[in-house]
Amino acid sequence: MFKDKEVFLFDLDGTLLSIEAENFLKYYFAALSSEFEDLCAEKEEFIQLLMGSTNKMIRNDGSRTNQEAFMEDFIEKLQISDRSEADKIKSRFEKFYQTKFAALDQYFEIDRKTPAEIIEYLKAKNKRLVLATNPLFPEEAVAARLSWIGIDAADFELLTHYENMSYAKPNPDYYREILNKIDVEPEACLMIGNDLKEDAVASRLGIDTLIIEDKLIEREGSDFDISWRGSLKEFKNLLEEKL
Ligand SMILES: [Mg+2]
Repeated sequence: MFKDKEVFLFDLDGTLLSIEAENFLKYYFAALSSEFEDLCAEKEEFIQLLMGSTNKMIRNDGSRTNQEAFMEDFIEKLQISDRSEADKIKSRFEKFYQTKFAALDQYFEIDRKTPAEIIEYLKAKNKRLVLATNPLFPEEAVAARLSWIGIDAADFELLTHYENMSYAKPNPDYYREILNKIDVEPEACLMIGNDLKEDAVASRLGIDTLIIEDKLIEREGSDFDISWRGSLKEFKNLLEEKL
């Protein structure tokens, strides 16, 4: 099951990072909307704007980066036509991710031990690692969340983020884009995630998919092939036994 696999792709939220995505979004949107209070009088309205532009980014079609897809839509919705105003908003986003976003871990109880042990084990076995997190955030924000579990971003040969990807989950093209970037065949990869659609869709390309059930996300009508399912601890035990 593991020996012939060269690359391990890991989802982050709900897989390596034991935070419920819904719960995380609550704090994230609250922090972001206080940061941009001046742009929008109503917090709720601002969150609606953010979610709308995020949905645009999720449906990105490969023609531009996810960041471009998000920003174009967001700036348009705020009715900003001045280029320098738009650039200012872009840099405010970047600053937010470098500072306040990185401090959001204070709101959560995070299991640090098991994920870090898994990554160490795979590194010792010379496996190639990809962090296949839905690329809706900038690189700093992805690296910050990895640091919450004591994992170094440099352990991964590729982190997917909104600047380097032009598709998002659950589009299977997201996984194709990864395979192209790291130049590997799907049969040599394993995808480990917690979402029966967004992660399990990788199996459509011929990537064996393992589901971590601690924070399982079920989706109606999703029946992708799953090679194995269990808790993160069970996954770690299985690795140590079989690899
Ligand atoms: Mg997830």
